[in-house]
Amino acid sequence: MSEDRRPAGRYDVAVIGAGPAGTTTAALLASAGLDVAIFERSRFPRFSIGESLLPACSDILREAGLLDLVEAQGHQVKTGAVFVRGDERCEFDFAQ
Ligand SMILES: Cc1cc2nc3c(=O)[nH]c(=O)nc-3n(C[C@H](O)[C@H](O)[C@H](O)COP(=O)(O)OP(=O)(O)OC[C@H]3O[C@@H](n4cnc5c(N)ncnc54)[C@H](O)[C@@H]3O)c2cc1C
Repeated sequence: MSEDRRPAGRYDVAVIGAGPAGTTTAALLASAGLDVAIFERSRFPRFSIGESLLPACSDILREAGLLDLVEAQGHQVKTGAVFVRGDERCEFDFAQ
């Protein structure tokens, strides 16, 4: 996607916010042939907190044509997670 400053009325769809939801929505609409503008109030790269992306997210990112871009960022690959509360311990293997 590129930055384009045409007037808003020249697009089929205006998406407010370029977070994960807005970006994915815009990419899906664009791949369906619509002319889409995203309006974002923050300058990117913006401040963000987060350490992981669940494997199920890959499906929608692939469908939106964004998976290669995300993977090209070279993020650390996680294969699971462990949640601990007192003596309780719950392990998740993302392959499952
Ligand atoms: C501390 C923390 C840790 C997290 N860790 C993870 C994690 O590890 N993995 C994970 O998958 N999720 C994580 N999340 C959740 C994840 O951040 C959200 O689920 C995700 O950001 C939601 O995406 P979104 O596009 O709906 O909203 P946002 O990411 O909030 O994006 C909304 C965008 O809209 C813009 N906007 C808002 N109003 C306007 C306006 N009027 N005009 C123009 N632009 C506007 C904002 O500037 C923003 O960029 C975490 C959340 C928090 C708070």
